[in-house]
Amino acid sequence: MSAPLRLMAVHAHPDDESSKGAATMARYVTEGHEVLVVTCTGGEEGSILNPAMDLPEVRADLSAVRAREVAEAIAVLGVRQHRLGFTDSGWPDGGAPVPPGRFATVPLEQGTERLVTVMREFRPHVVVTYDENGGYPHPDHIRCHEVSVAAFDAAGDDRLFPAAGPPWTPLKLYYVHEWCELRMRTFHTALLAEGLDSPYHEWLDEWADKPGSTERITTRVPCGEHFPVRDRALLAHATQIDPHSHWFAVPMRMQQRLWPTEDFELVRSHVDTESPEDDLFTGVSAFCSRKREERIPG
Ligand SMILES: [Zn+2]
Repeated sequence: MSAPLRLMAVHAHPDDESSKGAATMARYVTEGHEVLVVTCTGGEEGSILNPAMDLPEVRADLSAVRAREVAEAIAVLGVRQHRLGFTDSGWPDGGAPVPPGRFATVPLEQGTERLVTVMREFRPHVVVTYDENGGYPHPDHIRCHEVSVAAFDAAGDDRLFPAAGPPWTPLKLYYVHEWCELRMRTFHTALLAEGLDSPYHEWLDEWADKPGSTERITTRVPCGEHFPVRDRALLAHATQIDPHSHWFAVPMRMQQRLWPTEDFELVRSHVDTESPEDDLFTGVSAFCSRKREERIPG
């Protein structure tokens, strides 16, 4: 194998790392690469979405419970985690403003500086985050996108955030697309053809209004054999993931046969590459060895 490379995935809440690009991370870990998940908030404002976990003792201490859940998921995926330490903004009721002091309302520079510090320490070759719509429009997801893009652009510039450590320029930035319309339609059709229930009717009806879709995908990473690991990581988030819910509507074998990839959109690259790609690290090893050679006088 070529030299190990480093991948950083920046997520808004505990559980997002297990639903967006998790099998890709598991695959890269298996291949000997280093993967760091950065979780921007503690998920303190999340609701309990699994009725079996809606218990007084869980409600009383949700942030500690979620911290234990994410620790388990991180161990299942075999990655490392860094908590950025911001407070969950919550989902504002009826468009109410996010209260001050939450991740979405602290100045963008603050989040950017913290993430730049982690980037300069971990020195990722590739960074993954959400698109400008956040994957779904939770204020923390939008802010996670903004902070990640700003940090990606700033980390290599020694004039910016000089207290955050020596500069490091990550080479590629991707948005993870958890769903694209074609993937959902493919599963929907296959479920109906086998006489199974599809949870996707409404989503597909509404898809026309949703931003982000199949055409944006530049990179499909084969990782079907790691889907069971992804599911185990998801289930570790017991307050968030109901084992009887839509997350598990598509039989594993159907997923692995019909759509054995996770899908990404390349938005910045300092290395030579062409889409479509099948690997987030395409072009990175070649770039790194060329750089090493250039430094060694002939
Ligand atoms: Zn989230």
